[in-house]
Amino acid sequence: MPTMTKSPLAAGNLYGLTDEQLQLQEMVREFVKREVAPHAAEIDETERFPVETFKKLGQLGLMGIPVPAEYGGAGSDTMSYVLAVEEIAKACGSTGLSFAAHISLGSMPLVYFGTEEQKKKWLPYVTSGEFMGSWALTEPQAGSDASRQQTVAVREGDSWVLNGRKTFITNAPYARYVIVMAMTDKSKGNKGISSFIVPTDTPGFSVSKHEHKMGMRGSPTTELTFENVRLPADCMISEEGSGFKQAMKTLDGGRISIAALALGIATGAFEVALAYAKEREAFGQTIGSFQLVQAMLADAATELHAARLMIYHAARLKDANLPHTQAGAQAKLYASEVSARVTANAVQILGGYGYLKDFPVERMMRDSKLCEIGEGTSQIQRIVIARNLGL
Ligand SMILES: Cc1cc2nc3c(=O)[nH]c(=O)nc-3n(C[C@H](O)[C@H](O)[C@H](O)COP(=O)(O)OP(=O)(O)OC[C@H]3O[C@@H](n4cnc5c(N)ncnc54)[C@H](O)[C@@H]3O)c2cc1C
Repeated sequence: MPTMTKSPLAAGNLYGLTDEQLQLQEMVREFVKREVAPHAAEIDETERFPVETFKKLGQLGLMGIPVPAEYGGAGSDTMSYVLAVEEIAKACGSTGLSFAAHISLGSMPLVYFGTEEQKKKWLPYVTSGEFMGSWALTEPQAGSDASRQQTVAVREGDSWVLNGRKTFITNAPYARYVIVMAMTDKSKGNKGISSFIVPTDTPGFSVSKHEHKMGMRGSPTTELTFENVRLPADCMISEEGSGFKQAMKTLDGGRISIAALALGIATGAFEVALAYAKEREAFGQTIGSFQLVQAMLADAATELHAARLMIYHAARLKDANLPHTQAGAQAKLYASEVSARVTANAVQILGGYGYLKDFPVERMMRDSKLCEIGEGTSQIQRIVIARNLGL
């Protein structure tokens, strides 16, 4: 009799996750139930950053999932990191966003491009969960067109002196350092941009404004001002002029985590809407028995599955050190647009109650919008994808 090969896609493990990935997913799920879900509505309402949650995530070893163990991380893979973002975002988009920005933007550039000394010195601050990772590329006049950097760094002897302003920066008030892009040679265009580690206690650095947002209200978004911020030369990350290239590689990875953030938020909303459709009655039957409601839920289940496959595929490409720019941009574009549709339909399925703060779906709909904007808008993702098609 032919022997059956055991499929990795066993029941309960449809996405072929390893034992370690399944364990991590379960651990995060338990943590989220206990420590994240109970605070999600309150931090949204009061715009409070849940610093205690991140300290606890640090104690569990989750604040540096993909960071090598010698720098205090868990030495795990992108796939595990993506699973963690998805689980957190199912309950709380704000916590998911700050977590994703902490790792993808505030930690990984040092892993990719830092010297051994820089990694040993700075990464333990973030992998421990003591401080948040933060990364500053965007400026008032340089968002999608990030090459238009106005923040300048001028060499003075052994130091660099930074002046300028950054906007929309996540986590900065809770950071020990911010990774900052600045123009070191304007004549070279984006090849004149360099990247710096700016310790937040350096004189001249300040968090000059806290933004008030429609969603992701528990994740701090701030403006930063640099006034004659003097840095020692060893605060530059990698070579002078490589900052823009570093930023693009950082965003290639970061977009996979924003896709997972979108997926998590949408999955959370879908689960609420599905349960509601099975209970709520109208015209003598549950609303889930109406085919027009079924269609919204069937479409959501299908699109969420497709988004999950795309995101896990992009994460696996990254883990295999294969090109993932295209896969990451496609996953982010698709997952964030699915998330916008699924969360809006979740509100629709709950009817008037969906519009109230008594249920989480209105928050999820507001939070979801950010995923079509942050780390490159949907328009920019389409441009990246078209470029990869040779257009
Ligand atoms: C909550 C939040 C957190 C953020 N966190 C960070 C962070 O931690 N660090 C950081 O550096 N940045 C961060 N950002 C900034 C974010 O990445 C930018 O907002 C985003 O890249 C868009 O830039 P912009 O807002 O300047 O929009 P703009 O670039 O002004 O775009 C405005 C509109 O024009 C469109 N557009 C622009 N160029 C083109 C084009 N070539 N073709 C077609 N359409 C185009 C855009 O798609 C958009 O619809 C954050 C933003 C938010 C809202």
